[in-house]
Amino acid sequence: MIRIGDVLVSRGEGGVYGERMLASARVWDPFRSKLAALYYAGTGIELAPEMKVLYLGAANGTTVSHVADYVEVVYAVEFAPRPMQDLLEVARRRDNIVPLMADASRPEQYAPVMEAVDLLYQDVAQPDQAEILIRNCVFLKPDGKVILMLKTRSVDIRKSPDEVFRETIERLAAFGLEVIESTWLSPYHKDHAAIVCKKHS
Ligand code: SAM
Repeated sequence: MIRIGDVLVSRGEGGVYGERMLASARVWDPFRSKLAALYYAGTGIELAPEMKVLYLGAANGTTVSHVADYVEVVYAVEFAPRPMQDLLEVARRRDNIVPLMADASRPEQYAPVMEAVDLLYQDVAQPDQAEILIRNCVFLKPDGKVILMLKTRSVDIRKSPDEVFRETIERLAAFGLEVIESTWLSPYHKDHAAIVCKKHS
């Protein structure tokens, strides 16, 4: 990942959401983006120019735009009309973002336009986050990687964040993913965790 001093940045055309620029690069703020927070709080997956990414829960394209600065193509799935309008505007100015208005829990909706991806990234903040992720693993290459941004309070408010975190890791492992990193995203995002996995080869 590109850092200027200890500041995470991405190199892309112009600002997208009023982010700071540093030496002509876009500052990638860990308080605005959970993926940036993962690169500060943990290790994450190194993004590279030849990578294809499926991004679930694109919202208005804030994090998508940074990912697109690093990789070949981002398939960006979002089901809410309002953020989709912003995402379309971000995608209009870049040629490697494919916006898909679809429900990530129903991958058959976008399967016809998909190709196999190197990285599956999910940030949907839904109760069934693990199951949505699992359903989308059909698009992963054999050596593909997965990053799940887990909003523990969305899964079950009656359980402690630690319990939800542990149960989600167990579910992904039971499905057959190898968990290679799991970390809380504090102090950047309260009660959010990142789980990084790879497919068993
Ligand atoms: N990843 C974004 C970022 O860093 O800029 C923020 C994502 S926000 C926490 C979660 C988004 O997921 C919302 O925009 C919501 O509409 C979307 N979402 C939730 N469930 C979804 C689903 N089943 N399919 C597609 N999008 C979904």
